[in-house]
Amino acid sequence: MSDDPDPDAFEGRLPTPAIEDLLRARHEAELAPPVVTGLPMPDFARGGIVRFRCLFDCGWHHDENPGLERSGPLLLPGDFTTEDLSAAISSASEVRSKAFAMRVEQAIAAHLAEAHPER
Ligand SMILES: [Zn+2]
Repeated sequence: MSDDPDPDAFEGRLPTPAIEDLLRARHEAELAPPVVTGLPMPDFARGGIVRFRCLFDCGWHHDENPGLERSGPLLLPGDFTTEDLSAAISSASEVRSKAFAMRVEQAIAAHLAEAHPER
C-alpha cells in the first residue's frame, strides 16, 4: 500500500503547454478584421479587402488587405514564459492595429485635403 500519488494523475494536473493555443489565437487574430475605432465603417469586399469609401461619396476609396499584413518579430526574453509570449503577441497585434488605423486615417486625410479642400 502506498500513499504516493499516481505519477500519471500528477502529470494530468500540470498545466499543459499553451503554445499551440496561443499560436492558434494569434492566427485567428490575424485573420480577423482589425479594430477600426475612430475610422469610418468600411465595406468588406472580396478577397479580404477592407474598403474605406470617401465620406462625401465621390467614388474615392482606400483599400486595405489585413490578410497580407506580416506580423513583425516577437520580442521575448531568453527564458520567456507563456505569459511573455501572450503579451508579446497582444503587443504585436496592437501595433498592427494602430499602424492600420494610422494608414487609413492618413489616406483619408490626404484625399480630403486634395479632393475636398472646401469641406
Ligand atoms: Zn472624396
